[in-house]
Amino acid sequence: MEYDPIVKGQSHRTGVRPNLSDYEEFWRDFRWEEMMGELDGLEGGGLNIAYEAIDRHARGPMKDKVALYWEGRDGRSEEYTFSDLYRLTNRFANVLKRLGLGKGDRVFTYGDRIPEIYISLIGALKAGAVIGPLFSAFGPDAVKERLGDCEARFLVTTPKLAGVVRGTVDDLPSLETLIIINREKTACELNEKEVDYEALMTEASHSFDMERTDKDDYAIIHYTSGTTGKPKGVVHAHEAVVGHYATARYVLDLHRDDIYWCTADPGWVTGTSYGIFGPWSNGVSQVVYEGGFRATNWYRVIEKYKVTVWYSAPTAIRMLMKAGEGVAQKFDLSSLRYLCSVGEPLNPEAILWGNRAFGLPFHDNWWQTETGCIQIANYPVQDIRPGSMGRPFPGVRATILDDNCEKELPPGEEGHLALRAGWPSMFRTYWNMQELYDSRFRNGWYITGDRATMDPDGYFWFVGRADDVINTAGHLVGPFEVESALVEHPAVAEAGVIGVPDPLAMEVVKAFVSLKDGYEPSEELKRDIKRFARKKLHSVACPRKIDFLPGLPKTKSGKIMRRLLKARELGLPEGDTSTLEE
Ligand code: ATP
Ligand code: MG
Repeated sequence: MEYDPIVKGQSHRTGVRPNLSDYEEFWRDFRWEEMMGELDGLEGGGLNIAYEAIDRHARGPMKDKVALYWEGRDGRSEEYTFSDLYRLTNRFANVLKRLGLGKGDRVFTYGDRIPEIYISLIGALKAGAVIGPLFSAFGPDAVKERLGDCEARFLVTTPKLAGVVRGTVDDLPSLETLIIINREKTACELNEKEVDYEALMTEASHSFDMERTDKDDYAIIHYTSGTTGKPKGVVHAHEAVVGHYATARYVLDLHRDDIYWCTADPGWVTGTSYGIFGPWSNGVSQVVYEGGFRATNWYRVIEKYKVTVWYSAPTAIRMLMKAGEGVAQKFDLSSLRYLCSVGEPLNPEAILWGNRAFGLPFHDNWWQTETGCIQIANYPVQDIRPGSMGRPFPGVRATILDDNCEKELPPGEEGHLALRAGWPSMFRTYWNMQELYDSRFRNGWYITGDRATMDPDGYFWFVGRADDVINTAGHLVGPFEVESALVEHPAVAEAGVIGVPDPLAMEVVKAFVSLKDGYEPSEELKRDIKRFARKKLHSVACPRKIDFLPGLPKTKSGKIMRRLLKARELGLPEGDTSTLEE
């Protein structure tokens, strides 16, 4: 298979010995049980994510180490050690118990990235709850839908966001109590269902006997991003922490002295698996930045905290590219040693750009809400093949299945990306959709819904989501390769590619393109982009039509929503838009 020039892996650059120093050897010797053995488990048996993330460090020599560096959007900052978080999360567990929480009750959070949200999520796990973190940018319907689906009993939120959902509370009979975090002490009249977080925390004891949870007890419900359809409630058990721990250690390469920053919000699975549990189960200090995306603010965070390991997403990287290398050069980013990316296919251009801007390439890795932790990755010890998602995490078996999801295909052939069922952080059900869950498994394989190929060396290459693949003139074209070619054009900031019906070819490729600052849409530019694409792509994959858009429709977690481009193009209903970034 052809790929752009190999980009040297991290270990060639920084002299830090990767935790995973020999992929083949690690693969051969890997046992999930051994990963579990590196965690503590509960005294007397059982497993609780919160214990592994916080308590075990708070009881040992790391108790005074800073776990959380919090940077507010207004420049305020706070620090919390593992023992601070231990006491605060104990308090919150007591608060929930006092309010009548029973094991397995659903506790949702709906707030910005403030420390209290992290404390609530971990405290709720200690109390035996199932947590449901929601993104603060959701509107009232999206929140109502999710709370109603899960029959949530408690919602932790802020005065402003309580205002957003108040009108829907009467339609949520299971929702008993809203716990209001009022950091700013704004005037806020609480109604009979609302209680004050601070007041209850002050009264609560900081000692708590952890609820006895088992590895298979449900712990987290995450709704998927809604990229391909209505979001599904993905349920994870406490055992997921084994996957969070192992992959944070061996893929994100977290070392004890790292300062780590994951830019994702806990409303998305990346923001919990790797914005809470992965780093903390490894005893690593992490930065949480409350503010949204802005290149200068992000670089300031890296500079201020001397971030060493940075985990972000293609959409953010494309925005940094749009802002230009010059912005990066105004900051001291020399602390960075390892960069990773997840969430969408990472265009080769973005890897090469990272190399130029930071002197380091982004390491792409692939996983889903359903998989709970990284499944396929580029490792620091290996060279990167730009455009490839890398190789399976040891302990994970990935393959490509034929169209009927029955036969494994040889290297080079395109088909359904599937994973051998049974890794520790595999989802346990779709909430209220057991049938859909069952339909995702075939002969012991979990069918991911993505299409890919594997090369002879075992590297996986993303083609597209099964729903998005374009069938044109007898060929299957994945949007990713077309989009990647288009974003190499100097004028193109982002591209979203779909198939539109065609009487002869069945479908033809249509591209929607947003331009970098300084470029104006024109027919001439369209022709130039088409010419450019023809040099990079097989003729069937070249876009026949190009439309300019000021921006592409995206989920709030930053994924291009091709289904919306298609619905709008064809004048069809838009479907669920609860996760659409306005
Ligand atoms: P929904 O399931 O509601 O349509 P979603 O699939 O986008 O939404 P997530 O679970 O957040 O919800 O995203 C997982 C998907 O994101 C993967 O199945 C894949 O399509 C895409 N993805 C994640 N990481 C990568 C990557 N490194 N390369 C290519 N695609 C990726
Ligand atoms: Mg999905």
